[in-house]
Amino acid sequence: MTTYQGKCHCGQHQWDVTLTEDQSKHILCHCDTCKILGGGAFSMNQIIPKSGLKITSGGEPSCYSYKGDSGNSVNCYYCSKCTSHIYHHQGIMGPDTIVVRTALLPEARKNFDVGAEIYGKDKLKWEKEIATTFDTLPPS
Ligand SMILES: [Zn+2]
Ligand SMILES: [Zn+2]
Repeated sequence: MTTYQGKCHCGQHQWDVTLTEDQSKHILCHCDTCKILGGGAFSMNQIIPKSGLKITSGGEPSCYSYKGDSGNSVNCYYCSKCTSHIYHHQGIMGPDTIVVRTALLPEARKNFDVGAEIYGKDKLKWEKEIATTFDTLPPS
């Protein structure tokens, strides 16, 4: 297990994310929601138990909710000042699983490889395959 420090753009929120060696990789999400919320071709994430995230500064982030593909709500937690998305909670994954944005962990930006790509069906046509790509989510 390794603990990585995260920080939003303005620095109001800081947090620790604890990942196993297997989890110390980016999962690229190519869904359209990630493109719209993040303004890029994909988002970079990891799926972890809720206990693996500790907000160490700035308190509880703000929350934006929308209905996901499944009809369940997705709560996106972000910094109210700079709007950086810190983590998401998808109702469909149950109460104890969250999705953290690995792009906000400086060490992950520097050192993580890509573990998998999800929502390949929405991938931009000029993007090359980097890792195993799933049409939507990997079969559970
Ligand atoms: Zn911020
Ligand atoms: Zn996505």
